[in-house]
Amino acid sequence: MVKTEIKETLIDLDKKHFIHPTSSLKQQQETGAPFIFTEGKGVYLTDISGKKVLEGMASLWNVNVGYGRKELAEAAREQMEKLAFTNSFSSMGNEPAIRLAAKLAELTPGDLNAVFFTSSGSESNDTAYKLARYYWKIQGSPEKTKIISRKKGYHGVNIGATSATGITPFQEMTSSLAPDFLHVDTFSTESLRKCIEIEGPDKIAAFIAEPVQGAGGVNIAPDGYFQEIRKICDENNILFIADEVITGFGRTGKMFACEHYGIVPDIMLLAKGITSGYIPLGAVVVTDRIHKDLIKYSEGVLLHGYTYSGHATACAVALKNIEIIEKESLIENSRLMGKELLDGFYKIQKEIDIVGEVRTLGLIGAVEIINPVTNTRFPAHIAPKVSAEAAKRGLIIRTVVFEGMDTLVFSPPLVINQKEIEELLSILREALLAVQNSL
Ligand code: PMP
Repeated sequence: MVKTEIKETLIDLDKKHFIHPTSSLKQQQETGAPFIFTEGKGVYLTDISGKKVLEGMASLWNVNVGYGRKELAEAAREQMEKLAFTNSFSSMGNEPAIRLAAKLAELTPGDLNAVFFTSSGSESNDTAYKLARYYWKIQGSPEKTKIISRKKGYHGVNIGATSATGITPFQEMTSSLAPDFLHVDTFSTESLRKCIEIEGPDKIAAFIAEPVQGAGGVNIAPDGYFQEIRKICDENNILFIADEVITGFGRTGKMFACEHYGIVPDIMLLAKGITSGYIPLGAVVVTDRIHKDLIKYSEGVLLHGYTYSGHATACAVALKNIEIIEKESLIENSRLMGKELLDGFYKIQKEIDIVGEVRTLGLIGAVEIINPVTNTRFPAHIAPKVSAEAAKRGLIIRTVVFEGMDTLVFSPPLVINQKEIEELLSILREALLAVQNSL
């Protein structure tokens, strides 16, 4: 079969059999899959028709070390041949899981030293809510159950994680969610204080936030915000959970984004960049204090565990992935290339009228679209038109159009170099100009 025939067959099968995550089911039927990728190398993907595109999103903010890493394939193969998997229930173990737990303890700030493994960010979130409630319950405060999160926050799609997510359309998918979840304003410490006052600190288990909101539009906290959050949580005996699912492993120019603010959460959630997406894995890291209390007060069995908690092959890949991040100084590259990206955004902002605020922290960034005449958002969303123009020219970026936003977001692989940043910026500029001229 020639390539176009294979593509048509796949599109046909896709329409009939593949329910895509976070996708328009109608659009899939009408237009078919926009891309069916077959290969990746560095920051580029190639689709089945041979079209090469620059991945400005590192897929879902996660392919930190870039595509086509033979070392990671080799790490998986070696582990699979020796011992692909055994479960970690009943205190049984395997070497990669133990070594990875120790490595995460070394890398995470402060006394975050004990790790519970999951297979995704959503699982890390639901695990953290249960652990936080369990932590208070076994210490004689079973009524400390409420979880406070923030508007525009994204924490995943399991029932607990959806309930914590503060992006309304995700919550509205079903007409019933988990009880005991509350949402406060994104950067208002006052809103958190008020919420605690109304609900009572003795009813609240934890506050959760992303150090930089990702899916909510790459929202970077103002100076002092997270230090104040840490203080409020301490004063009220509320656990602070940092969801570093996107921001972990160098994305923001530090190993973990909490380091920008000099704070140590009680619980840190990881996934995505932990394996750069080569294999599913997530982790929940808790402080020594929590770990010790869990040991001291818990009786019988901790009845929480996934079949794949501590999956040997996933953990072996994570160890190799972290080794690559360290050896190739990808965190420094994230800082340097992040600066290039921001400088480029500023240039584009000066030249193109529909570009509003731009921002980055390391290699995560956003460009907002505004109507230059009114200095407000356009009535219809413009960002999706820009991303469509960019895709035509070989650049993949995403848009955030919830909650009144009209924003382009960026999160390229941390291996991106100067030339590739220039290519990204040049395509972005052309796409923005094309859309601006069409308005
Ligand atoms: N937390 C954050 C901050 C995320 O960005 C995501 C995924 N985008 C999740 C949790 C959920 O992770 P997963 O999709 O692996 O379940």
